[in-house]
Amino acid sequence: MVQGTTKYDILERYFGYPSFREGQEILIDAVLAGQDVLGIMPTGAGKSICYQVPALMLPGITVVISPLISLMKDQVSALNQAGIHAAYINSSLTENQISKAMYYAANGRYKIIYVAPERLETPAFMAFAENADICMVTVDEAHCISQWGQDFRPSYLKIVQFIKQMPKRPIISAFTATATEAVKEDIQCVLGLSEPKVLVTGFNRENLYFAVENIRKKDAYVLDYVAGHKNESGIIYCATRKNVDAVFERLAAEGIAVTKYHAGLGNVERQQNQEDFIYERSLVMVATNAFGMGIDKSNVRYVIHYNMPQSIENYYQEAGRAGRDGEPSECILLYSAQDLVINRFLLNSKEENPDFTPEEARAVRERDEERLQSIVHYCLTKNCLREYILRYFGEQGMGACESCSNCRKEFEELDVTEEARKIAACVGEMKQRYGALKDLTEPAIKEIMEQMMLDGFLCKTKDKYALVKVTEKGREFLENGGKIFLKKVKEEIVEGASAADT
Ligand code: ADP
Repeated sequence: MVQGTTKYDILERYFGYPSFREGQEILIDAVLAGQDVLGIMPTGAGKSICYQVPALMLPGITVVISPLISLMKDQVSALNQAGIHAAYINSSLTENQISKAMYYAANGRYKIIYVAPERLETPAFMAFAENADICMVTVDEAHCISQWGQDFRPSYLKIVQFIKQMPKRPIISAFTATATEAVKEDIQCVLGLSEPKVLVTGFNRENLYFAVENIRKKDAYVLDYVAGHKNESGIIYCATRKNVDAVFERLAAEGIAVTKYHAGLGNVERQQNQEDFIYERSLVMVATNAFGMGIDKSNVRYVIHYNMPQSIENYYQEAGRAGRDGEPSECILLYSAQDLVINRFLLNSKEENPDFTPEEARAVRERDEERLQSIVHYCLTKNCLREYILRYFGEQGMGACESCSNCRKEFEELDVTEEARKIAACVGEMKQRYGALKDLTEPAIKEIMEQMMLDGFLCKTKDKYALVKVTEKGREFLENGGKIFLKKVKEEIVEGASAADT
C-alpha cells in the first residue's frame, strides 16, 4: 500500500464511494488499531467494506471465511475488477486450480483470500497459514458458529482450531446480520474475540411503516387493504399452507391478480408463480415463509403478516422485503390470540436436530419459546414498534418514530399501579390467592399482567410450565413503590370507567 494512503482514499479509489455509511468507519478504525471487531448489520448495510478497506491497509494477508460459494465468487470478481488482488479457494475449483491459487497465495500475490471453513483444516492450507503473513481473519456470516442459531454449521468450529494453530494470532473481525443477544454472546465466546469492538447498526429502515392490528376478521381486513392498494405489489405471509390456500382463494374470487407459494406446490408451479410475481403478472403474492429467500423485487409496497411469525428475526426479515427501493412501504402484522396457539403447535412439531444432546435440545426449545414471547410482546406493546425492533436487535433506538401504528395512535395513560401491586403481591405469595383481585375482570388482570411483563416486573419461568414469577424489579416495586401505566387508545376509554371495566 502506498504510504500515507487513507481509508478515504481507498474507499474512493477502489470502491468508488465518496463516504462511509453508518458504522463502517468505527469498525475500520478499530481493526486498524489492532482490535478484534464484531459487526452486526442487516443484509445490504455494507459489511464487506468494513473488512476490505482495512485489509488493503494492513501489512499482511486477510483470510475471509465465508460459507457461500456463490458469494465468494461475486466478491472476488468485484475486487479483481477494482484492481485488488484477491482469490477464492473452495470446492468449486479443480485440484489443479486450488494448487495454483495456493502457490500464488504463498508467494504473497493476494491481499485478500476467501475460503470455505472446510478448507481450513486441509494440510495444504495449514502449511500456507504457518508460513504466510496473515494479519487478519474475517469471519463472514459469523452466526453460523452458534449452536443455538438456526444456521449452525459444524464446519465453523474449525475456525477456532485454525486460529489457534497460527504462529501469530491475527486480528479477528466477525460479521453477521443476526443480532440476538444469545448469538452475539456465542460468537464472541466461541471465536475467542478479545475485548472486541461490538457494533450493531443499520437495522432501521426509515421508509417502512410498521403496524400491528389486533383483529379477528383478518380476511375482511386483507380484502379491504388489497382493494385499497390496487396497483401496488405486495406479499401476504401466512403461517400455514392451509391459510395460504384460503387467503389466495378469497382474493382470487374478488378478481385480484394474485398468486401463491408454499412448499406443498410442485417445483414447476412454484417457479412459475414466483416469476408471475416478479414480472408483475400477479401483483399480490400469498405465501408461507418458504417464499422470499434470494428474491430481489425492489418495489414491494406492502408486506402483510396474516399470522404472527415465530420470532422478531423472522418477522423483520420477511417484513423487510417491502420497500427495498427506499420508497414508503407498509409492514402490517395481523395478530389474534389464535396465532400463539398455531405457533406453539408449529414449534412443538419442529424436528429436533439429531446431533443435539437432550440438554442442548432443551436449550434450543427454551430459546424458541423466548423468541416467541418477544414477538407476542411486539404485538401487544403500546409503545413505538420500530423502537421495540431496534432494541431487540441491540441497536439503540431513537425514541418514538412517529411512523408506526402505535406512534400514530392517541393513547391516554391509565394509572394501574394499585392493581399491579395486588397482582405482584399475589404472584409473590405463590398461593393462587386471587381474592385481592376480585374487583378486576379476567381480561383486565391479563392486560395488566402483560404490561407488567413488558415492563419487566413479572416474568415467566423458562421451563415448560411457564410459571409467572416476580422479578427483582417487581420486588423493588412492591417494597419501594413506583408507578405502572396502561396505555389505552383514546376511544377505548369509556368515560368514568376504571381499568377494571375496560
Ligand atoms: P452486506 O454484506 O452487509 O450484505 P454488502 O457489503 O454486500 O452488504 O454491501 C451492500 C451494498 O452496499 C453493495 O452494493 C455495496 O457496494 C454498497 N456499499 C457499501 N458501502 C457503501 C458506501 N460507503 N457507500 C455506498 N455504497 C456502499
